[in-house]
Amino acid sequence: MKKYIAFTAFLIGLSFFSKAQLTDPEIHALKGGRVKPDSSYIYALPFSPKSKFLLIQAYNSKMSHAGELSLDFKMKQGSKICAARDGMVESIKEDSDKGGLKSEFMNDGNHIVIRHSDGSMAMYWHLKKEGVIVKQGDNVLKGQHIGYSGNTGYTAFPHLHFQVQDANGRDIATRFYTRKGVKYLRPGKWYKAL
Ligand SMILES: [Zn+2]
Repeated sequence: MKKYIAFTAFLIGLSFFSKAQLTDPEIHALKGGRVKPDSSYIYALPFSPKSKFLLIQAYNSKMSHAGELSLDFKMKQGSKICAARDGMVESIKEDSDKGGLKSEFMNDGNHIVIRHSDGSMAMYWHLKKEGVIVKQGDNVLKGQHIGYSGNTGYTAFPHLHFQVQDANGRDIATRFYTRKGVKYLRPGKWYKAL
C-alpha cells in the first residue's frame, strides 16, 4: 500500500515535472481526432451503460494534468464506476472521507488499481468512502461495476480521475468505444457509455 501512496503523490504532486510520452504535435493530433491506424486496446468508458459525463480534463490539460496522460470526468458523488478493461485488482483504498485542493489531502484519495494482462494498470481515483465493491486479488471483467465516485484526495470537485500506465509505469493515452465510434477523448465533451 505504501508504494501506492508514494505513487499517488508522484502522480499528483510531481506530475508537473514528469514527462509525457507523446510529443506536443502527437497530443495535438490526438485531441483533434487525427489519429493514424492504431492497434491499441479499446477501453470501455469507466462508468455504467447509458450514463453520460463531461470530460473536464484530458491528456496534458493545463490545470493539474500537465505532462500527464489522464482523464477527469466530472461526476456527482455516488455515480457507478465500472472497469474499463478486464484485469485483476492490484490495490484499493476506501477508508478516506477527506478531500480538497490542499496538499495535505494528497494521500487521501480512495481508489482502485487494476492490472491488465499486458502488465498495464488502470487507476480509478477519488472514490467515495466505502465506495469500493471489489477486493484486492479479484478478477474483474470489462464493464463490471467496481465502485462509486466521490471527492476524496487532492481534488477540486467531485470527479473520477482515470489513468492508464504501461508495464513500465509510463502513462499511455487510451482510446474508448463511444457513441460516435472509437475515439481518444477530448475535454469539454460529454461521453455516454454504451
Ligand atoms: Zn485528474
